[in-house]
Amino acid sequence: MKNTRKDSNVENLVIIGSGPAGYTAAIYAARANLQPLLVTGFNSGGIPGGQLMTTTFVENYPGFPDGVLGPELMDLMKAQAERWGTNLYESDVVSINIDVRPFELKTLDGTIKSNSIIIATGASANRLGVINEDKFWSKGISACAICDGATPQFRDEELAVIGGGDSACEEAAYLTKYGSKVHLLVRSDKLRASAAMVDRVKANAKIEIHWNTTVEKANGNDWLEKIETINVQKGKGEINVKGLFYAIGHTPNTKFLDNKINLDKKGYIACKSGRPETSIEGIFAAGDVVDSEWRQGVTAAGTGCMAALATERWLSEKNLSKTVVREITEPEKRPNSSNFNEEEVNEETFDLNSEWQKGSYALRKLYHESKKPLLVIFSSPSCGPCHVLKPQLKRVIKELEGAVQGIEIDIDKDQEIAKQAGITGTPTVQLFKEKLLKKQWQGVKQRSEFKEAIKNIL
Ligand code: NAP
Repeated sequence: MKNTRKDSNVENLVIIGSGPAGYTAAIYAARANLQPLLVTGFNSGGIPGGQLMTTTFVENYPGFPDGVLGPELMDLMKAQAERWGTNLYESDVVSINIDVRPFELKTLDGTIKSNSIIIATGASANRLGVINEDKFWSKGISACAICDGATPQFRDEELAVIGGGDSACEEAAYLTKYGSKVHLLVRSDKLRASAAMVDRVKANAKIEIHWNTTVEKANGNDWLEKIETINVQKGKGEINVKGLFYAIGHTPNTKFLDNKINLDKKGYIACKSGRPETSIEGIFAAGDVVDSEWRQGVTAAGTGCMAALATERWLSEKNLSKTVVREITEPEKRPNSSNFNEEEVNEETFDLNSEWQKGSYALRKLYHESKKPLLVIFSSPSCGPCHVLKPQLKRVIKELEGAVQGIEIDIDKDQEIAKQAGITGTPTVQLFKEKLLKKQWQGVKQRSEFKEAIKNIL
């Protein structure tokens, strides 16, 4: 969409956070011609897209009668925000100077000036801090069953989930697809998850609930083998598991605010009841960062809408908004397909020169025949971080004008290849040149890291 650019030094509105609250605020602000800048978040506060990126099916978001995958829902919100003219900026905001007008937001890469701000940074998954947690992190211990469940090491093994909320129940049920048995360790004598979720867990013969049980220590050699537990009645015990997944709640992402904005007793941003205004005029907040109670995708989206409308009113009252003029009032519809081949290729469909292909056939052929560096991403179908990373890798390949080729391996389908490659979680990216592994990354990284590594071997 072509817009007449507003004063490029000062933004009307910067939205911090790319979960349902952030994208909904962006959709409303963009449609109000404010051309907001949305800082997606990068390292801090979990992955871009927020907590729905680490869920499977969201069955309670209105409008999706058959449910929708969390990462898919976020892809749709992002596309909608972009279609109406939101500018996305991949970075973290590390601090805000609230003593100047316009506000100054320091990011990982520079400073942005903005007349108003919506904070929608959400909350991050908590860690438990059991003994040996660091040693077995990504070697059996994970905070995301949905991302890492398909890892080969968990196949047909006993696994454990800690927690008693919706996340713990959802993850326990999800892991029964892969593990031989799932132990759900609940510290009290009740589950706090919704009734439908509790019923699902109780009806699943592969889940054993251990009430009044906590975990003290993780043991093993190179990979987790057992956990030491404490049960209120029975005392100390041990369970042999190859996987331990945390689902023990979240902490609001407010550290970057450095207590310059009022927080409540639990550390959430304190707003006037039912309103998005924070203690600083011109700064608004929405989503899980203000909400210790409801914490749903739909409530986050609702408060994101309120924050955008309140910001629009405030900017216009203060005569601060410089709205864009749209050349085309109705933006173009989203294209359905990309230039990259998203289908698994076989002998007939394989193309030695393609920039991006999927599946073990493509990997084998390119590994032996391609002269170019190969960027291989190991993903799994419901892995939210993979949804974030794949477009980034595709952009790197485009920017390098085909000097490197991309291959996607679904570790759920290609277990053997994942095992041979030593994959312990998704996304994992491996960079090869002439059959040699040059570098490996786990998790979402910045595009510049991949680009630099590739340029070094070209
Ligand atoms: P949550 O509801 O805050 O539950 C956290 C659980 O972890 C609680 O059962 C808590 O125990 C337990 N816990 C906390 N610290 C612990 C510790 N140190 N050791 C052992 N256990 C500990 O968090 P959540 O399950 O992530 O859910 C967050 C929000 O998202 C909720 O509103 C939920 O409804 C929503 N959600 C919805 C869906 C869905 O609808 N599909 C899926 C996931 C999440 P206590 O109960 O004893 O405090």
